[in-house]
Amino acid sequence: MKLIVQKFGGSSVRDAERIRNVAGIIADTYRAGNQVLVVLSAQGDTTDDLIDKAKEINPHASKREMDMLLSTGEQISIALCAMALEGMGLPVVSLTGWQVGIRTTGAYSDSRINKIAPDRIQRELDKNKIVLVAGFQGVNRVGDVTTLGRGGSDTSAVALAAAFHADLCQIFTDVDGVYTTDPRIVPGALKLPEITYDEMLELASQGAQVLHNRSVELAKKYHVNMEVVSSLERKPGTKVKEVAKMEKTNIAGVAKDTSIARIAVVGVEHSPGVAFRVFDLLGRANINVDAIIQSIGRESSKDISFTLPKADVEEAVKVLEENKESIRFDHLTVEDKIAKVSIVGAGMMTTPGVAAKMFEALYDANINIQMINTSEIRVSVLIDEGDAVNAVRAVHDKFFGGED
Ligand code: ADP
Ligand code: ASP
Ligand code: MG
Repeated sequence: MKLIVQKFGGSSVRDAERIRNVAGIIADTYRAGNQVLVVLSAQGDTTDDLIDKAKEINPHASKREMDMLLSTGEQISIALCAMALEGMGLPVVSLTGWQVGIRTTGAYSDSRINKIAPDRIQRELDKNKIVLVAGFQGVNRVGDVTTLGRGGSDTSAVALAAAFHADLCQIFTDVDGVYTTDPRIVPGALKLPEITYDEMLELASQGAQVLHNRSVELAKKYHVNMEVVSSLERKPGTKVKEVAKMEKTNIAGVAKDTSIARIAVVGVEHSPGVAFRVFDLLGRANINVDAIIQSIGRESSKDISFTLPKADVEEAVKVLEENKESIRFDHLTVEDKIAKVSIVGAGMMTTPGVAAKMFEALYDANINIQMINTSEIRVSVLIDEGDAVNAVRAVHDKFFGGED
């Protein structure tokens, strides 16, 4: 008997009809003789709606209370889906992250799964039940509900698949696989039959929303057999694995991220220890910084610019301003109308000229590059937010359009 983990995203459970559709997929998997462990997201835009509700009451609500609120969305989905399966006469139980002992560490609103107590789920599976678990949530050391970051239900699914040594972890969503870029932006994007964990991790980390980046990190670490499939059409999706067939284009895809901002610390002294003071303070405040550029400005001073999630700007500015005297800078500038566009591909390690090809595409589209940042298998550029969609189209077209 195989154990299959199936995760269904928000659009796949958005209304009664979609929940019935999901229940049908789960039922088929169960009736085929498998054990089925299911993770569900909140219905449709529920999480966004809950955030809006909170803002009406208190725009500065604590992260603890936000987690308490947002975790309720997933609980609605599992209960409704369990009712649909009950209606089909199938044995089923729905359980929250707390009930199944998904233990988390780290900050509220962005916690990590530390361990999963196997007892409760195992007991239910042994009773031949279909087990539905609320995604996106766990419980921390002090017994509080925490959430895993936006899109985190994918990570709940992979963590469960790893903990229970599942034979397969299927991520069901509203597209039928991973594409060379977001098919909603570029209709000509190509579906990838397979992609490596490393490429998928880079794409997800650079804004390809189709998978939560930490889910891919976990899948790689625990060798989880993972695939992205459509919940609406039954056809092969994309396998995410250690080694994948190399496409002749050398890159796997193009991603864009508009959730970032840039802060410039202007007029810092040209002396040792300045970068350390800035980034040590941000690190202590739990703020993740991405691209960093230090530019030599006037004779004795320089500027340090860095990108960070838009959601962390307020906190970063507060921390830096509070420490203005010890860092010694002139002023801060914040730019939040920026975007990052990235190309990702293991093939670029061995192929010269890939970055140049990307820059040429941007030049031809008359798009100005503000910052460049690379890894072994990625090139990212920072551009104006208004240029982001055109940039994705131009770069995608350069690598994937009109060839042969
Ligand atoms: P779910 O609610 O199922 O978790 P998400 O909205 O989080 O679904 O992710 C699916 C969406 O990801 C798609 O609708 C698509 O617009 C977007 N997306 C971004 N990049 C890609 C990509 N490279 N391949 C496929 N989908 C992508
Ligand atoms: N409901 C959560 C969100 O919207 C988690 C998820 O969908 O994966 O971010
Ligand atoms: Mg998602």
